[in-house]
Amino acid sequence: MSAPRLEVDLDKIHHNASTLVTRLAARGISVTAVMKASLGSPEIARMMLRAGVSMIGDSRMENIEAMRRAGISAPMMLIRAPMISDVQRVVQYADLSLNSELDVIRQLSYAAKAAGRTHGVVLMVELGDLREGIMPADLEHTAALVLGMPNIELKGIGANLACHCGVSPDSRNMDQLSALARSVEAAFGVTLDIVTGGNSANLNWAFSGADTGRINNLRLGESILLGCEPLHRQPIDGLHTDAITLVAEVIESKIKPSQPWGEIAQTAFGEKVPPADRGDIAQAILAIGRQDVDPDGLRSPMGIDIIDASSDHLIIDCGDHPLPVGAEVRFQLNYSATVRSMTSPFVTKVLLASRTGDGSEIPLTTPALASLPINNPRKIA
Ligand SMILES: *Cc1c(COP(=O)(O)O)cnc(C)c1O
Repeated sequence: MSAPRLEVDLDKIHHNASTLVTRLAARGISVTAVMKASLGSPEIARMMLRAGVSMIGDSRMENIEAMRRAGISAPMMLIRAPMISDVQRVVQYADLSLNSELDVIRQLSYAAKAAGRTHGVVLMVELGDLREGIMPADLEHTAALVLGMPNIELKGIGANLACHCGVSPDSRNMDQLSALARSVEAAFGVTLDIVTGGNSANLNWAFSGADTGRINNLRLGESILLGCEPLHRQPIDGLHTDAITLVAEVIESKIKPSQPWGEIAQTAFGEKVPPADRGDIAQAILAIGRQDVDPDGLRSPMGIDIIDASSDHLIIDCGDHPLPVGAEVRFQLNYSATVRSMTSPFVTKVLLASRTGDGSEIPLTTPALASLPINNPRKIA
């Protein structure tokens, strides 16, 4: 099979998604499955929907379009604020979007009117992490203007934490979001369908027993794919943490000195601390590099250490077990490495599935294996 490749175990992802859906339902919270780290794979999206998520979310219109073209009709949420240059396709393909700028929403309104459609708007509120969001004091005024815009439906409000400054979702900021939802509802006599409290970083709060108030949705990506929560990167009880594996192939294997010789200057990726002298080592080169993965986010098998990575080469120390050329090495990935590999056109994506959680076979082209159809908007010259 071709390498490098990402092997995605759909059964394990299904299990993770349905477990989180069930546990959050008990807290009155629905799940929007965030597909941005799956490159909008329609197979993965369908599997998420089978697991019971209420909506599909993505940050990229290319992914949303690809899922629509593949026939996925579930509600789709654009989770990054739309670009004004993109509003026509946003209203065409996405049912709702997360927004924080009136100028953008006004353009969405014009585009929705021209297309004879209604577009849902969720207003994002700044709760301290300092990425997207309207300052809380401006929310009511903004909501008033949005409510007056033709072909726009104010669907709700939301927040995003732990992405820019690492501010943790807790009772204080989540209660503030609930209070803001209630005050908008009271001020305008409306009901907000969606109060979307955040991402996988909200799970500790959601499962803490704290009052979830008006928060009725979370947007989850990393926790479903990797089975861990992103605040402390701890595994979540009962979830698989090995649903995604990266496989790379050995293209050179030699006993080499651990120390370089010659005049030492900068490397391809900047200054380098010279390695400690450990005598001769069994060194191998894998045909994968920074164009394909974030090497800092890889966990190697026992007995193998990653020494360094350049654009196209990953250098490893094989310890006591030199690997032959052509051998494959399997790695676990963190979120950064997963996203980079999923979006690299050089990495083949392979879906593995025997049965879904509900016991039905997923139709795949070869026994238990199929290539993920990649919607790749970036062309490599
Ligand atoms: C990426 C993203 C998410 C999902 O985050 P995870 O940590 O992967 O669960 C949710 N909301 C927004 C706005 C995002 O950009």
